[in-house]
Amino acid sequence: MDKFEIDRIRDHVIAPAKHIINGERVDAADRGTMDVISPVDGRKLTTIPKGTEQDAKSAIMSARAAFDDGRWSGLSPAARKQVMLNWAELIEAQAQELAVLGVRDNGTEIGMAHKAEPLSAVGTLRYFAEAIDKIYGEIAPTAPGALGLIHKQPVGVVGAIVPWNFPLMIGSWKLGPALAAGCTVVMKPAETASLTLVRLGELALEAGIPPGVLNVVTGEGAVVGAAIAESEDVDVLVFTGSGNTGRKLMEASARSNLKRVYLELGGKSPNIVFADVPDLDEAAKVSAAGIFRNSGQVCVAGSRLLVQKDIHNAFVEKLVAQAEAMRVGDPLDPKTNAGAINSERQLAQNLAFVEEARRAGRNIATGGMRVLQETGGTYMAPTIVTGVDASDRIVREEVFGPVLTVQSFETEDEAVSLANDSDFGLAAGVWTSDLSRAHRMIARIRAGVVHVNTYGGADVTVPLGGVKQSGNGHDKSLHAFDKYLDLKTAWIKL
Ligand code: ADP
Repeated sequence: MDKFEIDRIRDHVIAPAKHIINGERVDAADRGTMDVISPVDGRKLTTIPKGTEQDAKSAIMSARAAFDDGRWSGLSPAARKQVMLNWAELIEAQAQELAVLGVRDNGTEIGMAHKAEPLSAVGTLRYFAEAIDKIYGEIAPTAPGALGLIHKQPVGVVGAIVPWNFPLMIGSWKLGPALAAGCTVVMKPAETASLTLVRLGELALEAGIPPGVLNVVTGEGAVVGAAIAESEDVDVLVFTGSGNTGRKLMEASARSNLKRVYLELGGKSPNIVFADVPDLDEAAKVSAAGIFRNSGQVCVAGSRLLVQKDIHNAFVEKLVAQAEAMRVGDPLDPKTNAGAINSERQLAQNLAFVEEARRAGRNIATGGMRVLQETGGTYMAPTIVTGVDASDRIVREEVFGPVLTVQSFETEDEAVSLANDSDFGLAAGVWTSDLSRAHRMIARIRAGVVHVNTYGGADVTVPLGGVKQSGNGHDKSLHAFDKYLDLKTAWIKL
């Protein structure tokens, strides 16, 4: 994005946000609000409604009514497609404003945010809108005398609870297939990144998505999120966030109506560099970006580097150089490589992980501290920790910050066993010139995605989802519809 345009809008006053319930912009039932603090400079940006349980219930009731009367699911797929394409166009027209608003709210560097947030949401919404009138039911190969039809029907009311790192991207991964399928949605953005999703909800109304079809309720997870999870009227819960919250959502489902729960949880993704890596410099550059972009606040971040022993020292040296060359700071400066940490709470957690490693005698090869405190914002230097043990907390738990641990291995088997020695299974990377080895590693690593000779990078055409404690179900690609379209059999005697 152009610096001149960013500077023109970066200090715009932001009106207090409202919930979107049943097509109306409304305050919390008790008029409570929460301050929105910008991680860029620690200043108050505006307020969002501090949603109550009653607000969540009103939104769910409106989504229920909107689903049950067929005002959305009863439209032809082609008609839903057209409305969603209108919506995508409105978002695209405001992409720069949305990108800057989102960065002020959550701290992601603008170069990444502009593409990964509004523009990727536009692409995702278009993809699912365009797909929905190309999905057919099936006729079963029954014996003569019977006709077995398999219909695909929207599952109903979807509760979508999303995190703060990429609200528009991840939000649209849920909204795109859910709305295209004909479901209605109650969306709960994260406390520290609600503003752009509220805006998305407003644009949905402008585009002609009927009232009640997309509701956005802001506030605390433990109040609004919990009310959605406990509801008897929500049919499916889709979530991206932490494992702890994911567990609570499954418990809430079990306590209430056994709603289906799809979780995209964290990762502790191994990035494995063999000595036959095609280009050590390129691997260092991409691996650094793979953990340090958005200050490591990326679920698929390659946070566990495994390097073959022969190249360990040379590779770490290059990585340290990459980390130290990164420009950390004002996320609204297009030259910045790593913006702010989302909140003081998250920064404190990141630093606590590093401090524990330091006390255990691990080597902090670079970084390890807060920087730019004088700005009032929350910034952390890209951090590399070597000499770690596989049992260290910093190796086993997701930090969700700019913190990379480095372990070394000798054989392929050892690399596989270290890579799989994790509760998580979201993503992985393998760097090698040996095609056969690449395929062996793809088969043996337990993860939802394995990158080869790159790290990160994907598009809406491929599914994203984890194994083990990284979750279940998939966002993106046509497979994402599986969560929102139910199979229904019609058995007809002929
Ligand atoms: P993080 O620790 O990264 O903020 P969370 O899992 O706490 O991750 O947050 C992801 C989303 O889950 C946010 O929208 C948050 O408000 C919501 N959330 C947090 N706690 C709960 C809960 N008990 N029930 C439902 N949603 C929750």
